[in-house]
Amino acid sequence: MAIHATLAGIPRIGRNRELKRALENYWRDPATGGLLAATARNTVNSYIGAALKAGIDSVPTIGRSFYDSMLDTSALLGVLPARFQNVPKTDGSNLPEWINHYFAAARGTKTQPASAMTKWFDTNYHYIVPELSADTEFTSDLTDWLDDSCSLNNGATTMLRPHLIGPVTYLSLSRTDDDSNPLGLLEKLTDAYAEIIAQLGDKGFEWIQLDEPVLVTDLDEVTLARTRQAYEKLAGVAESANTKLWVQTYFGDGDQALETLSGTGVQAIGCDLVAGSSELLHWTGKELLVAGIVDGRNVWRTDLDAALATLEKLAARGPIAVSTSCSLLHVPYSLASENPSEEDAEVLQWLAFGDEKIAEVTLLARALDAKLNDRQLDAADLKVLRESRAALASRAESKRIVKPEVREALAAIEDSDRNRSPFAARQAAQAETLNLPPLPTTTIGSFPQTNSIRRARAQLRTGELTPADYESAMLAEIRSAIEQQEELGLDVLVHGEPERNDMVQYFSEQLDGYLATTNGWVQSYGSRCVRPPILYGDITRPEPMTVQWYKAAADMTDLPVKGMLTGPVTMLAWSFVRDDQPIGDTADNVALVLRDEIADLVAAGAQIVQVDEPAIRELLPLNEADQPAYLKWAVGSFRLATSGVADEIQIHTHMCYSDFNELIDTVDDLNADVTSIEAARNGMQVLAALKDEGYVRGIGPGVWDIHSPRVPTDGEVNQLVEDALESVDPNLLWINPDCGLKTRGWDEVTASLKVLVAAAQQARLQLAE
Ligand code: GLN
Ligand code: ZN
Repeated sequence: MAIHATLAGIPRIGRNRELKRALENYWRDPATGGLLAATARNTVNSYIGAALKAGIDSVPTIGRSFYDSMLDTSALLGVLPARFQNVPKTDGSNLPEWINHYFAAARGTKTQPASAMTKWFDTNYHYIVPELSADTEFTSDLTDWLDDSCSLNNGATTMLRPHLIGPVTYLSLSRTDDDSNPLGLLEKLTDAYAEIIAQLGDKGFEWIQLDEPVLVTDLDEVTLARTRQAYEKLAGVAESANTKLWVQTYFGDGDQALETLSGTGVQAIGCDLVAGSSELLHWTGKELLVAGIVDGRNVWRTDLDAALATLEKLAARGPIAVSTSCSLLHVPYSLASENPSEEDAEVLQWLAFGDEKIAEVTLLARALDAKLNDRQLDAADLKVLRESRAALASRAESKRIVKPEVREALAAIEDSDRNRSPFAARQAAQAETLNLPPLPTTTIGSFPQTNSIRRARAQLRTGELTPADYESAMLAEIRSAIEQQEELGLDVLVHGEPERNDMVQYFSEQLDGYLATTNGWVQSYGSRCVRPPILYGDITRPEPMTVQWYKAAADMTDLPVKGMLTGPVTMLAWSFVRDDQPIGDTADNVALVLRDEIADLVAAGAQIVQVDEPAIRELLPLNEADQPAYLKWAVGSFRLATSGVADEIQIHTHMCYSDFNELIDTVDDLNADVTSIEAARNGMQVLAALKDEGYVRGIGPGVWDIHSPRVPTDGEVNQLVEDALESVDPNLLWINPDCGLKTRGWDEVTASLKVLVAAAQQARLQLAE
């Protein structure tokens, strides 16, 4: 039997973001439903066609996806939230009857907020959180999905593998409205999956793939035992329906899944050999091991020789198939859509996007097959293998990757570079130079990114605006933001970030060692795609990146203006990052660059610099055992970036998520003078935790939930300030919104900030009494 070449999952947004456009058209104009139905099907269909043609012999799919696969699963199981039940389908297209109910859950309606959306494990993909309760009943109506799967490629049932999220992962990522444990529904849900499997088996599918990435995370014995039971049952059903179960894990070590599932009757288990180890001690060789050897999360070419050696070792222990480490949804479609400058063409040859990864998978399968059967690879494959080796060698030797000045600077880092004077000394020095009122008011950085700002940026790209025109347009925006803030009576001003398209992209475009892609879009959620920059080599800063804007703003006012930067962890979290050195070294490299930028800001007069780290929570490893090492480099790089300043310079940081109780120690370790955090939405819960922890530096819990377009009332904000004062020393409390204001409109912003400033003033009066 030849070695199978397969994929852990496929992207759905379309090579040219066709699904994005069809979705947005449909939301504007429901009469385009027919086009949406066709597009959702065609993007998947054509992908499968291309993958099969490229030599993949079994492709996972469930026909189509309209927004997100967790939400697709909720629709399939008949558990879209009931509060949207009355959002009917309005057009006559062949979209499913529940389609508007589905989109209402994803996007909300005028009267009802959307379901929660959150990050899929430690990726930057977001899923819609299922809303269940202890009495949820599941259905298993496959009509809307089977038609599609079967219509693909004339129902080629051996080459297509129906692909669903598995019951344990689905429930683990769900929420209930009655405090019951969603996993309490596992037996009921297993029954629903049993029916689904029976139906798919009847249609003649050889394999059915259930994704269980949750099996790579820390799970207790009871959950593992119940997982095993569920799969014993499902495997039994599969056997009677003449089909086979394939459980796919990713984003971590597969060994726990192997231990749990082997012997249950599940016939194939997919393991991520990039994020996890290839030792897989619990693999007995009885089940098919689907070896996820080609990285589905990052964009580097695979070291094919090393991969082949790993595969060969595994093949000696039992049957294996070659695959990607996870779904290709996390990387761009193809290098073929890139138009690099001559200079960047060198970097491109080190990369593999989706299509190139598919080619790597098929080549590895053929190469392994040849090895095991003592055959020669054919000439074409040998040529590809040689090219790949040459590309890797060129990457290893390129001057664009290793720069002596960066190596020296990294080697010269000392512990003292990550330390400042004790907080008390800094606090006293800062009080003297800054001379701020008690409960100082400020914002998080950005002001509304208006249409005119976006238009100016587009016109700069097309050449309709000269760089000089663009600059004056941005300066006018800054001037108006400064005037607004002065009028509102804020104490610490910001320039408003009009010139930033995105808080990571903006910096990556100005740094050497980063490559921007032309068409490297990746689905972030629903119709939203991002184009993460690629951090390929040692990072240097040809010129200051923000000083000009800071200086312009500071010259417009007598009040202090904060310098505003993106921190090292966030710079890495929202990029594709080099894999040729420990990530902590890369973070330190970015930190050194930021340290220089901070020095330049300070030289230009900045007394306050904010270094945002909104992503520090999302990179936190899935397993507790891996967390300390992560926190060490994450905190270390932030401190390296921010500790080069004198005592009187006030360092702020900002994080935007509310449930960071598990990260309280980390917030403390960052050693910032002031930390602003999201808190309005969950009523300041985080403050009690901070107090318990003995946190004693400046803190700005958000008192305005900026995620909602609603202007808060005086009463609400006063209450939040009062609540904050219960747990925070008034000398340490700052008054600010939850997050940046770039997504809001100016009307709401001025109205809400008025309320915020008034609340601070009132609280000051009360304190004075
Ligand atoms: N300074 C950034 C802004 O205000 C912070 C954004 C964020 O926290 N994601 O937009
Ligand atoms: Zn934020």
